[in-house]
Amino acid sequence: MAKLTLGIIGGGQLGSMLCIAAKKIGINTIIFCDDENAPGKNFCDEFIFGKYESISNIEEFSKKVDLVTYEFENIPYETLKYINKIKKVLPKPKINKIIQNRLTEKDFLNSCNIRTVNYVSINSYKDLKSNSNLLPGILKTCTMGYDGKGQIKINSDNNLEDIVINKDEKYILEKIVNIKKEISIIITRYGQNKFEIYEPIENLHEDQILKYSKIPANIGNEILEKSTDWAKIISEELDYIGTLCVEYFIDKNDNLYVNEVAPRVHNSGHLTINTHNVNQFENHIRAICGLEKILTKKICNGKMINLLGEDINVYRNKKFNSNEFFFDYLKKDIKPKRKMGHITILEK
Ligand code: ADP
Ligand code: MG
Repeated sequence: MAKLTLGIIGGGQLGSMLCIAAKKIGINTIIFCDDENAPGKNFCDEFIFGKYESISNIEEFSKKVDLVTYEFENIPYETLKYINKIKKVLPKPKINKIIQNRLTEKDFLNSCNIRTVNYVSINSYKDLKSNSNLLPGILKTCTMGYDGKGQIKINSDNNLEDIVINKDEKYILEKIVNIKKEISIIITRYGQNKFEIYEPIENLHEDQILKYSKIPANIGNEILEKSTDWAKIISEELDYIGTLCVEYFIDKNDNLYVNEVAPRVHNSGHLTINTHNVNQFENHIRAICGLEKILTKKICNGKMINLLGEDINVYRNKKFNSNEFFFDYLKKDIKPKRKMGHITILEK
């Protein structure tokens, strides 16, 4: 059989890791990315540089691949829809449309009877004033945010005056949860009630950016079961194919909330590269390409540390023990708080 060629939109670290996993199982990759210097260039078989709105780039990319997936959710919906007319896009564009907007995402979760934080749509300063019952809160742009970008903490009524509401932007105001712990579940859905699901991962954020992840998560059975059930419900309701991540908050009273859903592989799942026989990237590719589902098993417990900004230089010159695995994303420029690499340390 001729080799399959997988198209990947986006060439960051997730795109790179998808390419590595594809290569391992004999699948070619073509990345389409709007950053000429994207690190994925180092890992794919072919790289197409172009704007995500460019019809000629979209057509060139679509012609060359057998199917298409993506590494991030903020791709114009029209682009995904256009590509989907030429080649199959998985996860389906309409799923991405729901999840790329924090408001429709939370409305969807609540329609599945899944608890989220309290929230309200904000389009004006007046809306903000009249929803002070949700303070202290976080005002987030509905679209395009990641790693805490596009978010403002509002402590109480008194610093409302400092907030600038951009008329061209849509926002959501979320009540702040008194977080005890954050966890995530990575699930790969192959088809109806056909899943590979990783155990909950415990996550620690600093300045709204993921810093550490580890398994096992230090949680009780009830939270473990509920978070697993919700991840299954979400992927089943969306008729999702591929790997998806659900991020959760656990509050001081042990209430579970879904924070957000990522319709893609996820940073908190990087440790699965070393802790499991089949990692989140390979499971994603197997599911979207219709390949055999392999029973996914944990080999070892472990933790992952994200290396942000200049931290990477310390690790580039470091010697590692046999249980330590260092990943350098090979990003061209080092910027403060930018995810530059990670290290996974397996429990001995
Ligand atoms: P991003 O898309 O940037 O990952 P998130 O909504 O996941 O945005 O926010 C990033 C982090 O900020 C969360 O993991 C959490 O630590 C903190 N955070 C976000 N929303 C809330 C909230 N409503 N209450 C408490 N903490 C929050
Ligand atoms: Mg998040």
